[in-house]
Amino acid sequence: MPFERILICGAGVAGSVLAYWLAKHDFHVVVVERSKTEQTAGQGLEIEEPALKIIKSMRILDKLNQKKTGEMGFNLVDEQARSHGILEAGGVSPTGALELMRGDLTQILFKAADGSANVTYQFETTIQSLRQTQDKVIVDLENRNDKTIATEEFDLVVGADGVRSRTRQLVMGSPEELNCFKLVGAFVAYFSIPREDQDWPYSQLCHFTGRRIIWMRPLGKESKMTSVYLIHVHDDVPNLRRANAAGDRLKQKEAFAEIYSGLGWETPRVIQQMMRAENFYSDELVQVKLQKWSQNRVVLLGDAAWAPSPFTGQGNQLAIIGAWVLAQELSRNRNLVAFEMYEKRLRSYVENAQSIPLGGYGPYIFNPQTRWGIWLLRTSVRLVSWTIHFVSWLKLARILARILPDQPHSDFDLEIEEVEVNGAR
Ligand SMILES: Cc1cc2nc3c(=O)[nH]c(=O)nc-3n(C[C@H](O)[C@H](O)[C@H](O)COP(=O)(O)OP(=O)(O)OC[C@H]3O[C@@H](n4cnc5c(N)ncnc54)[C@H](O)[C@@H]3O)c2cc1C
Repeated sequence: MPFERILICGAGVAGSVLAYWLAKHDFHVVVVERSKTEQTAGQGLEIEEPALKIIKSMRILDKLNQKKTGEMGFNLVDEQARSHGILEAGGVSPTGALELMRGDLTQILFKAADGSANVTYQFETTIQSLRQTQDKVIVDLENRNDKTIATEEFDLVVGADGVRSRTRQLVMGSPEELNCFKLVGAFVAYFSIPREDQDWPYSQLCHFTGRRIIWMRPLGKESKMTSVYLIHVHDDVPNLRRANAAGDRLKQKEAFAEIYSGLGWETPRVIQQMMRAENFYSDELVQVKLQKWSQNRVVLLGDAAWAPSPFTGQGNQLAIIGAWVLAQELSRNRNLVAFEMYEKRLRSYVENAQSIPLGGYGPYIFNPQTRWGIWLLRTSVRLVSWTIHFVSWLKLARILARILPDQPHSDFDLEIEEVEVNGAR
């Protein structure tokens, strides 16, 4: 029997893009999401080619453009708020051409998929257990609100439930058993704080000794809030690791307050507001590396299968591209061959995108330990920003593309022209 009914666990970027495209291919899709609505937490994300091509073919680019944060570029500052170089948006700047808040993106993707009669979303729901038979997956779905369990049958299950995927754990084993978590050696916190005049229109990043960074990013001309990222590159911060393991948000905040105590620039304001921030999210950065992305009738997608870590800037891109390829292969085969083809087409692209820039030393080079290292970095950024005044953007981008190693192929063939189904384009 060809596949017809598919369960997706997780209504993040990967889950909703997949639901949208599967519905276009006439599959019946149920998406379960553990949070109360589509998960709107998180800060800035960027969409670039080739994922942009998929977004355009979903006809949601206009909606995304309306939600652009409008960040004009990147300003490297010091503890006295002096600028050491501005990189305008696009090109080599950390500010991309299409910068969005993760919540805006997941909401727009959810609405695009939910608009189809073939897709049903169930919030506050998760997979409690599952078992696979010859031709079905029997799943116990738990409603986290009223604790009821409903048993349903699907032809296949997709785990799009993020780095700490429960689906992966249920079918393949724990991260420890799989040895699939590769620590990147960094801890991050994302949250937003009330905006002040100096927060607009450039994002501002300040380095402190001991590999500590504060990056503040505007959230739009009219927004009353500013987005903040704390990045601490360190192999082991025991109290933070304990707080992460316990999911204790207050302890996570206290650990970051301690790490950033006594520092200059906007640090006192940032830390004071962090303690009140409701959308605070923190984790230790890991990459997920698996031998195989599927097990019989269960397949993994996005961060659950291959989280590349924010240092690559590819998590969002890969989630969109992976969802597109999986839907395309399922439409072509409607059986388990689709999983083989999905992995065959994507594996080397994903592994390449997982490379941490500069041979893995990027996080250390861009987060120096010493005053001297910070001085060197600031001087380099000043030089780049001066050079940009003399060399055209395009030329500089070409030069850097040759110098910087480990860039994922942007010419990945999406075979987008072949999927003209049901008026999808
Ligand atoms: C809260 C949050 C904030 C983030 N903030 C940023 C950010 O600021 N910048 C950045 O670059 N990246 C951020 N990311 C990561 C980024 O969203 C992903 O790397 C990328 O979009 C790939 O998405 P994904 O759909 O594979 O996984 P995710 O975005 O992690 O989505 C997984 C979805 O599955 C849901 N889920 C998890 N477990 C279960 C379960 N057991 N049952 C049902 N549903 C479940 C989650 O609530 C979530 O909606 C964030 C992720 C999360 C979850």
